This record gives sequence, structure tokens and C-alpha cells, in this order.
Amino acid sequence: MNLYLGIDFGTSGARGVVIDEEASCIQAQVRYPFQDSPAAVTPKIWQEALFMLVEQIPNQLRREIKAIAINGTSSTVLLVDAVGNPVDTPLLYNDARGSLVLEHLRNIAPPNHTVLSATSSLAKLLWMMQQPSFSEARYFLHQADWLAFLLHGQLGISDYHNALKLGYDVEELKYPEWLENLQIPIQLPKVLPPGTPIAQLRPEIADKFGLRRDCLVCAGTTDSIAAFLASGAKLPGEAVTSLGSTLVLKLLSRTRQEDARYGIYSHRLGDLWLTGGASNTGGAVLKQFFTNAELESLSWEIDASIASELDYYPLLKVGDRFPINDPNLPPRLSPRPDNPVEFLHGLLESIARIEARGYELLQQMGADKLSRVYTAGGGAANETWTAIRARYLQVPVVASVYTEAAYGTALLAMGGGIKGEQE
Ligand code: ADP
Repeated sequence: MNLYLGIDFGTSGARGVVIDEEASCIQAQVRYPFQDSPAAVTPKIWQEALFMLVEQIPNQLRREIKAIAINGTSSTVLLVDAVGNPVDTPLLYNDARGSLVLEHLRNIAPPNHTVLSATSSLAKLLWMMQQPSFSEARYFLHQADWLAFLLHGQLGISDYHNALKLGYDVEELKYPEWLENLQIPIQLPKVLPPGTPIAQLRPEIADKFGLRRDCLVCAGTTDSIAAFLASGAKLPGEAVTSLGSTLVLKLLSRTRQEDARYGIYSHRLGDLWLTGGASNTGGAVLKQFFTNAELESLSWEIDASIASELDYYPLLKVGDRFPINDPNLPPRLSPRPDNPVEFLHGLLESIARIEARGYELLQQMGADKLSRVYTAGGGAANETWTAIRARYLQVPVVASVYTEAAYGTALLAMGGGIKGEQE
């Protein structure tokens, strides 16, 4: 039997999921929580985590793994020397040192381009170019690229999900001219479609860990795309809402949407586009008022078929970007009824309204008509909320069976492994 391993590097730890060709059954699931805060986690710890994950997989399963793929956090990047050793500390996904080069970047990149953000990979690279350690650097890599390199041994390879925020043109499948013109004196990664087989495992790695020498290492992806892939959404019009601390929408479409004002950009997914938007509303606001146990018990008392009259815009602090782009938008949480069931009803209803408005906006911008919404995150299990949301969205709303990024990345590995076998 051929098995496939997906590895997810998140902010709090790394996880691995092994699936078989049916993908309906998880054969093994392994974890490596980071002990330190994200900023203190070094590439050495990433490397240790990667190999510790592999070691936790039972020996007999390891021998059957046909392909591996890795996802990292988007825009976590590093510079390495000619043999792949990091020359300095990586810059993490949320590191905003790139703000120091934003003015310069605005003169280079087209208006409203995805790279025009302090945390974009390109802003980070331009900042790194001003540091003394840059003289030792030969390659610029994303976290997932470097971890995959440790397995297959080839430097300078990435995928078009990780490379989007570096400025790679995912429509034309090349670096744009304005980026080429910068003549960056080190190697930017060669960019492959996520899941493309890159190479077999380095023989010494295969032998050391009891993996197959013909096990393929495939191009990876980012954590949030991996979570989308896990949901099972495949067709244009299918979407995934993440009801975590914040509200994140992702809609699969045949057309590409971009609007920097609303923080909307599209990832390429084969022949389709994955358009996303994120609102600051969400579970973090619910958490301010209710414990998880209260959220569960009070929700059962809500009649989901009746619309609450309460019209809130639940935020922790002033400002939202999507679906309302207004940095001064005040949180609206009044009037607050004495009855907590009524209050919660108003909150759930209002967040559902913001979700519906978000999908409407994406469709107005040209995305395919919404047909089904999968749900992930802490709010996905709330059936009352699901019923309220379905009333607004007017399409089936279902909980995703799989939500783990590592599972989504295992699916990518499976695609790559099967493709590799046919070639
Ligand atoms: P994160 O985005 O931080 O990873 P999670 O996906 O773990 O978040 O979801 C946590 C959020 O889910 C919390 O903010 C909490 O308020 C919310 N939550 C937990 N249980 C429920 C519930 N039964 N109904 C609605 N929301 C819930």
C-alpha cells in the first residue's frame, strides 16, 4: 500500500498526518509542540521538529510512504548560504520590519500589489538586503522550501502559494519584469505548482529514518491553503468559512479577484482561484462575554429560525477591512439585553450577517456564485449558529470533516505521488 505524509509547520508546533490512497482514513497522526514562543523558534528547532515527527511514525508505515509534502506559515522566510545553512535568523510571518522599506517598494511594485505590505516576503527580502549577513546569502527561501530541502537536498525551489507574497506572477507563472529589473544578487526560488514532485529523498535521510529511497518530496504550500485543501471543497462556488478567533472566508472561483483596499487577493489552485477575505469579527469577541461551555449551552436555547432584531458589528477594537473597509469602524455591541440568550443570539446573528455580506462582496467582484459553505474553527460545531448562517447564506452549510492543515498537505503529497508514478 502507498501512503502519503503531510507535514504542517504552524505557529505553535508542527504536525504530521499519514493517509492512504483512499484518504478517508488517517493512518497516523504525530505532533511536535514548540516549547518556546514563535519568535524563539530557530531553524535548528524546525529541523529537529521535522525529524522528530518522522520518528514518531510507526516503522511499518514509514516504509510505505510514497510521497511527502510540507506546508509552512505564509511569509516566514530566510536566507541561506551555498549549502543551505541559514545565514541569519528567519523573519516570521508577522514580522513587520519590512515597513522600513515600504516606501521604496511602492516605487517598484504596481499600485495595490500584494507585496505592498510590511509583512510581505518581498518587503522582508528588501529589508534583509540591507543587513550585513546578506553578503553570505546565496538563496532566499520560504520556511516550507527550506524544510523540503532538508529532505530532497535541492536548493532554490518553491511553490506558487508560498511565492505569491514574494511577487511571483501566478497567472503568467513567472517573476514579473519589475521584479526581475531589481536584479536581486541572490537566487530567487524556482516556482513549481504545489504538489509537483521535486525529487526523491536524499538516500542518507531515507536510510537513517527507515523511509523508502524512492519516496518523493513534493512542492508544498502555505498553512491556510493547506487547511482549505483539507476541507474537501473542490468546485467553483464552494467555500470555507473559518470561525476561529477571527472570521476568514475563502471562495473557490473560475475568476481571480484582487482588491488591496479590502485585503482581498487570490491564490491559484490549478485552473481555479481561491479568493479570500478576513474580518476582525469572530470568536474572540464571543470569548470576551462567554466561556466555551456557556456558548454551547446558551446556543441550544436560541430559536435559530427567528431572526434577532439586534444589529451589532462585534469587534474587539476599532476598525475592520473586510467586508467593510474602514479603519475607524467602531465596535457596535449595544443595546445589550439582560437575557444572555438574547445577547448571544444577537452576536451570532450579526457575525452571520457579516459573513453573508463578505460572500456577497466577493461575488459582486466577479467570483462564482456561492453554492456550499464548509466550516472550520471553534464555531463550526455550533449547530444553532450553522442554522442561523444557512438562513442568511441560502446554501448548504456543513462542518468540514477534516480541518487540519497537515491533512490538506497529505492530499497534496498524494496528488504528487500518484503523478510521479505515472511519469
Ligand atoms: P483560533 O483562530 O484562535 O485558532 P479556534 O478555531 O480554536 O480559534 O476557535 C476558537 C474560537 O471559537 C474562540 O474564540 C471561541 O469563542 C469560539 N468558540 C468555541 N466554542 C464555540 C461555540 N460552541 N460556539 C461558537 N463559538 C465557539
